[in-house]
Amino acid sequence: MTELRTLKVALLGCGNVGAQVARILIDDAESLASRTGARLELSGIAVRNVDAPRDVELPHELFTADAETLVKDADVVIELMGGIEPARSLILSAFRHGACVVTGNKALLALDGPTLYEEADKAGVQLSYEAAVAGAIPILRPIRDSLSGDRITRVLGIVNGTTNFILDQMDSTGAQFADALAEAQRLGYAEADPTADVEGHDAAAKAAILASLSFHTRFALEDVYCEGISSVSAADIAAAKDAGFVIKLLAIAEKLPAAGTDTDGKPGVSVRVHPTLLPREHPLAAVRGAFNAVFIEAENAGELMFYGQGAGGTPTASAVMGDLVSAARRLVLGGPGRTETTTGHVPALPIDAAITSYYIGLDVADQPGVLARIAQLFAEHGVSIEIMRQTIHRDADSKVESAELRIVTHRASEAALAATVQAVKGLDVINSVTSVLRVEGV
Ligand code: NAP
Repeated sequence: MTELRTLKVALLGCGNVGAQVARILIDDAESLASRTGARLELSGIAVRNVDAPRDVELPHELFTADAETLVKDADVVIELMGGIEPARSLILSAFRHGACVVTGNKALLALDGPTLYEEADKAGVQLSYEAAVAGAIPILRPIRDSLSGDRITRVLGIVNGTTNFILDQMDSTGAQFADALAEAQRLGYAEADPTADVEGHDAAAKAAILASLSFHTRFALEDVYCEGISSVSAADIAAAKDAGFVIKLLAIAEKLPAAGTDTDGKPGVSVRVHPTLLPREHPLAAVRGAFNAVFIEAENAGELMFYGQGAGGTPTASAVMGDLVSAARRLVLGGPGRTETTTGHVPALPIDAAITSYYIGLDVADQPGVLARIAQLFAEHGVSIEIMRQTIHRDADSKVESAELRIVTHRASEAALAATVQAVKGLDVINSVTSVLRVEGV
């Protein structure tokens, strides 16, 4: 039998994900060797504190605080430290030394992905990051490889488990945002500082990655419009539920025809993250708790949905291991690295150019002619109404307490919809605009 080649694997970080990757590398060494055609030798684990207790029992001699030396001697570097520095410098150093890199660091990719992709290309090595979006769910490889002969038109993703858990709690128990967040923190789904999750920043980083691969153009974090869920109220959720919708925080990337003259008549891509109403029968509406899912529409494949655990040490380690095996196979077999195509050159559209439907909740005066005035105002702004429903609330003596109007529009430009809402607010028959939410899937 021929002797298998040995590939040195340097692991940077031994936290939630890194410890599980180390465990799999050691426990599954035999089957990994047979799958890759190389022995994957864990050459060392760089951490801050070499003596800290770990989730997994690992040989103490593997640990080092000298990440730079570890990287210099590796064939594959797995970066699971998180944060920007020193992760960025260590990845660049790995490229300079000819190593392939596997990372789950979405924050770094969103901030400086283009530099990293370029440096990997220049060095002729592979940069893989399946774990950076939707944890265990294989989503980047299907977009990049399986769908590379198709044209993706739209991606809708629930890519942040914390916010999905909170919104699901609000939907199923009627809780207010603050109470659902406290519950998520108690159960370990939300961090003590939940800003990156609840304000949508984490989902925006993933949206930039999904859009870049789907539309063969490098989109950065600043191309992503972002609104979080902290202003979603129990009343919004209740009204949505009553109208047959569920509210989800969606990462959306879709190709749109040009709207306005500033895009030179060329189509562009709208990349955005915001709370979104989905009809309860939409496949994404069934994604409960902290689960993730990505729904893709492609010209030839039609609709596809990918579902699973979006976080957690062991599930995320599965995605990291898939990238590692793929990088190792390439090192064994030779051939060029698997790079992204960036030939799309489609511009990122501003939020005003996005095409969407709106749900608008209004507290209106109960007077004759109110509905007609509102409908006319919508028509004047070129926004057509799909559903208009009035509910009259009466007190015990059957006296009208309030009149509530719920409107769902057809798809129109965000600019036209925003102008319509602004104009509606100025009508004397409107007591208040109770909610304005974007709608998808109608
Ligand atoms: P974590 O539990 O915080 O672990 C980080 C590890 O990196 C620790 O072992 C830490 O060492 C080490 N480290 C941090 N800074 C270092 C430095 N300057 N020098 C040397 N070592 C350093 O992180 P994690 O949850 O495993 O996440 C790792 C990466 O995967 C992140 O980029 C994250 O965004 C991504 N990811 C995580 C999940 C998830 O479910 N956790 C899901 C998808 C993607 P010490 O232990 O000595 O402090």
